[in-house]
Amino acid sequence: MSHRPEYLPEDGSGQASVAREGYENRQLKTNDIQLKLRNAIQSDEQKKVNKHNESVCYGCMRRDYALSSIFYCCQDCMKKRGTEALYKIVYHKPSEEICDFCGKWQKPYDVWQINCALCTKCNGKMLEFHRNYRENGGKKSNPFTKKMRRKYGKDYSMLLKQPARTINL
Ligand SMILES: [Zn+2]
Ligand SMILES: [Zn+2]
Repeated sequence: MSHRPEYLPEDGSGQASVAREGYENRQLKTNDIQLKLRNAIQSDEQKKVNKHNESVCYGCMRRDYALSSIFYCCQDCMKKRGTEALYKIVYHKPSEEICDFCGKWQKPYDVWQINCALCTKCNGKMLEFHRNYRENGGKKSNPFTKKMRRKYGKDYSMLLKQPARTINL
């Protein structure tokens, strides 16, 4: 499956041994699921990443230097962007979640956790968005929990829990 990449230097210098060690370490971390996913992405013309690490950015749909990661995306944002540049849907969130692309809190089952690539510009925007999110209280900025806290106090989840269901489970 794996082959020796071209960029690995052949000579017996220190640099070569460091490069080889790094390559071998990376190979040890890869598994079958990862290889399967990578092959699926590389065989698709629109998702493909070239050797300069350029692929289609899921934020602005332009082809540029991009890094892939995991983000939350709502129904509307996914509809706008389509599935051409989307690598994989990881998880369907059953509770409220904030969409990383439009920054709005969405209802349960309206947000998916996705794996996609973003360009440098969009990654910068994402960084700023997450910083603002943390500054505004992170999870506590959820409008549903805010409403519940206002109505029943800060220990609302403890008050509303049904004790009989949590005994001997
Ligand atoms: Zn972008
Ligand atoms: Zn959205």
